[in-house]
Amino acid sequence: MNVLIVFAHPEPRSLNGALKDFAVKRLEAGGHTVQVSDLYAMQWKATLDADDSTGRNASERFYPDRDSKRAFANGLQSADIEREQDKLRWADAVIFQFPLWWFSMPAILKGWFERVYAYGFGYGVGEHSDVRWGDRYGEGTLAGKRAMLVVTTGGWESHYSPRGINGPIEDILFPIQHGLLYYPGFDVLPPFVAYRTRGIDDAQFEAMREALGQRLDNLWTTPPIAYLPQNAGAYEIPTLTLKPELSPGQAGFAIHVAQ
Ligand code: FAD
Repeated sequence: MNVLIVFAHPEPRSLNGALKDFAVKRLEAGGHTVQVSDLYAMQWKATLDADDSTGRNASERFYPDRDSKRAFANGLQSADIEREQDKLRWADAVIFQFPLWWFSMPAILKGWFERVYAYGFGYGVGEHSDVRWGDRYGEGTLAGKRAMLVVTTGGWESHYSPRGINGPIEDILFPIQHGLLYYPGFDVLPPFVAYRTRGIDDAQFEAMREALGQRLDNLWTTPPIAYLPQNAGAYEIPTLTLKPELSPGQAGFAIHVAQ
C-alpha cells in the first residue's frame, strides 16, 4: 500500500520528528511504500493567495474560490499544489502528524489544506442542485482512501476527557476529522493522540512508539469512525440537518456519528 505522511513540525530532532521517522521505518518494514511531505523542510507556502494560479491578469480582483476552480480545471495551479494533489491521488492512506498548537494544527498545515484542497478537488465536487449538495462527507475525490491523525499534546489525557477542562479530544479534532478529512471522502480512523509529552523519559517514549506501531500495523483493518454520509438518507434536504428520528433531541458533534 502507498502511505503519505503529511508532517508539520519545525524541528526534525523533536519528539514529533522521532515519531515520524519511526512511522516511516515501521510502515516500510511492513512492506508499504511511504512518501513524506515535511512541510517545514519543504518551506511550504502556507498562505492561499493570487500567486496560487498561473496566467492570472494581475489587475483583476482575486476570488479565492473562483480562481481556484479555474486554475484546477485548466491546469493553471502552481506546481507545489499539483505535486501534493498527485501525492494524495497516489496514496491509499494518509497520516497527518502534528503537535496540537492552540487547539488545532500548526498554521503551515492549515495552509496546506487551504491550498491543496482546490475547488474541484477538495470541494465543489459532483452535482450541486436543489436536491444535492455535491459529493462530500463520505464521497468525493478522496473516497476509498484512509486517513489518520497522529497528534501530540502538552495537556494530560484527563484534560481532554469528556469532562476535562480543554473539552473532549473528539470535539477538538472534529473540525479536522469531519470537516477536512471526511468532507472530501476519506475514511477517517480514530486518531493516535500522545498526551502529556513534556519531559517524557525513554521508557515512556518507547511505550509511545510501540502504541503508534500497533496503530500503523492495523492501518488497513481498523474500523473508521462511523460518520454519517451526507447523501445516504440521514439528512433532510435541502437543509442538511440530521433527520429528527436519528439521535432524537440531541445536538452537537456526536450526532454525526452513527450510534
Ligand atoms: P518536544 O518538545 O520535542 O519533546 C517533548 C518531550 O519528548 C521532551 O521533553 C523529551 O522528553 C521527549 N523527546 C523530545 N525529543 C525526543 C526524541 N527525539 N526522542 C525521544 N524523546 C524525545 N498543548 C496542548 O495540549 N494544547 C494546546 O492547545 C497547545 N498549544 C500549543 C501552542 C504552541 C504555539 C506551542 C508551542 C505548544 C502548544 N502546546 C499545546 C504544547 C504542544 O502540543 C507540545 O509541546 C507538543 O505536542 C510536543 O511535541 P514536540 O514534538 O514539540 O515535543
